[in-house]
Amino acid sequence: MTKLVPSEVPVKATGDPTSRVVEHILTHYRGLFATLVLLPVSALYGAYVSVRDRIVLSLKSAPAKHDQKVRRVIGQIEAWKRDGCREKLCTARSGWKSMSELVPKYKLSHRKIDISLYDILEIDEERRLLRVEPLATMGQISRCLVPRGWTLPVVPELDDLTVGGLIMGFGVESSSHKYGLIQHICESFDIVTAEGKLLRCSPSENADLFYLIPWSHGTLGFLVAVQLRIIPAKKYVRLHYRPVYSLDDMVDVFEAESRNKEKNDFVEGLVYSRD
Ligand SMILES: Cc1cc2nc3c(=O)[nH]c(=O)nc-3n(C[C@H](O)[C@H](O)[C@H](O)COP(=O)(O)OP(=O)(O)OC[C@H]3O[C@@H](n4cnc5c(N)ncnc54)[C@H](O)[C@@H]3O)c2cc1C
Repeated sequence: MTKLVPSEVPVKATGDPTSRVVEHILTHYRGLFATLVLLPVSALYGAYVSVRDRIVLSLKSAPAKHDQKVRRVIGQIEAWKRDGCREKLCTARSGWKSMSELVPKYKLSHRKIDISLYDILEIDEERRLLRVEPLATMGQISRCLVPRGWTLPVVPELDDLTVGGLIMGFGVESSSHKYGLIQHICESFDIVTAEGKLLRCSPSENADLFYLIPWSHGTLGFLVAVQLRIIPAKKYVRLHYRPVYSLDDMVDVFEAESRNKEKNDFVEGLVYSRD
C-alpha cells in the first residue's frame, strides 16, 4: 500500500457547487483576494482601531488613580471570596481583543475580574526605568518613549501586543539575541493574588514569584504593574540584507550573526522557500 504524506491525502469535495467555486477561487487565487479585498479591509480597520483607541485611551487614562484601580481589582477578589470562591478566576478581557487565535471558552464559565489598567505610570530617565500597567501596548509605549529618545530593549513588533500578555504569555523580538525575552528586561512585577494580596515581586522581594510569573498565564495572580528597563534609541537602523540558499546556510548565518552582539542590534530571518 502506498503511504500518503499529508499534502497528498485526497480531499473529498464537500458542500454545494457555489461554495465549491468560492472555495476554489479563495484557494487558487488567494493572492488576488488578499490584495483586492483583505489589504484594503485591513487598512480601513487599522485606521478605525487607531482612532478608536486614541479616543478610548484618552477617556480611560488615569495614571494618578493607579492605586485606586488596584484596590478595585482587590475589591472584586474580596467579593468572590465572600461568594464562596465557587468559580475559577480569569481576566475580563474579551478573547477577540487578544492576539492569540485561541477562543478562550473558559471565559464563559469563570469569574471575570476587570483589569482595566491601560496607563504608562512613570518614566525614570535617570534610573532608566519605565513603569506601566498591564494593558499598555507596544505601540503606546513606543509612541511615548521614542520622541524622548528612549526605547524598550525588546519591542515585540505588533502595536497591539500588551505588556501583560507578553509577560504572562510570551514575548520575543529581533533584539532578543542581545537582551533576552521580554521578562529579561523586567525589574519588578506587582501582582494581586487569589487571596486578594498585592505583592511586589523582584529579584530581591518575593524572588521565587518574580522568576515564576513569566509564562504563567495568570495562574499565579493578576498582573497590575510592571517595571521595565529602557535604553537610548538610535534614530536610524543600518540594514544589511544577506540572501542564503539552503537551510544549513540559514542556520549557520543566523547563529553566527546572532552571536555577533557587538555588530548586530537586531537579527531577523525571512524564509521564502527551502532553497
Ligand atoms: C500575528 C501574530 C504576530 C505575533 N507577533 C509576535 C511578536 O512579534 N513577538 C512576540 O513575542 N509575540 C508575538 N505574537 C504572540 C504574542 O506574543 C502572544 O499572543 C502574547 O501572549 C501577547 O498577546 P496579548 O497581549 O494579546 O495577550 P493575551 O493573549 O491577552 O494574554 C496572554 C496570556 O496572559 C494572560 N494575561 C494577560 N494579561 C494578564 C494580567 N494582567 N494578569 C494575569 N494574566 C494576564 C492571559 O490570560 C493569557 O493567558 C504574535 C501573535 C500573532 C497572532
